[in-house]
Amino acid sequence: MRAAVPINLKFMEGEFQGRKIPMILNSRARFYEALLGVDLDAKPGKYQVKVRGQDKGGKGFLGASPLEVKKVSFKTQTLSLPSSMVDLDPKTLERVNGETKRLEALFQKTRKEKLWNGRFLQPAPGEISTPFGLRRVINRQNKNPHSGVDLRAEEGTPVLASNAGFVVMVDDLFFSGKSVVLDHGQGIYSMYFHLSEILAREGEKISKGDVLGQVGSTGRSTGPHLHWGIRIHGSKVDPFSLLRMTETMQD
Ligand SMILES: [Zn+2]
Repeated sequence: MRAAVPINLKFMEGEFQGRKIPMILNSRARFYEALLGVDLDAKPGKYQVKVRGQDKGGKGFLGASPLEVKKVSFKTQTLSLPSSMVDLDPKTLERVNGETKRLEALFQKTRKEKLWNGRFLQPAPGEISTPFGLRRVINRQNKNPHSGVDLRAEEGTPVLASNAGFVVMVDDLFFSGKSVVLDHGQGIYSMYFHLSEILAREGEKISKGDVLGQVGSTGRSTGPHLHWGIRIHGSKVDPFSLLRMTETMQD
């Protein structure tokens, strides 16, 4: 999203579905910009992105920009599994809920500064074994659609940081196994799940392409692969859409 307005404003922000999105000045092109993610669960239709800003003298600017969310069809996978593999005992359920809450709380935070630069990288080579958005029905129960992409890769394959940022989480989670989450600033997060080994430390500043760990099969996983996820202002987006969008950007 871009807005051409007088430069050197005190602030400029967008608002979409109740979320505030800080916009930053692209000094080369003299406009304000931000990356906006539309969640996997968003309903197709016409939306509006509100934009407001204020100059240093206190004069305000208000605007709105139309945004159309188009329908995308995702495939559905139907599976039958022994209930012992699907149903969680109360203690595990409590653990899973706690972990989900912690992750969601993380994605609500927006670091205004931009830590990322240029194009995002695919963190490991490998074919897509499970695409983004795949809907899963297990034992006739609807499960959450797949929130990232699974890349098939051999155990031990280095996992690289998609872009520069801070390591904001290193943990061993029930579903995701050994996991790393990076904050790239401006509300963009990337995550790397099921690692066999983690080489990054929480709080550490990371450059694009740094090795974060190795591909594994920890957590709920049926074989070595990397689950790679991207969140933008809390929305789950297809990591490959971020790759395409930033493809031509200079470092
Ligand atoms: Zn996955």
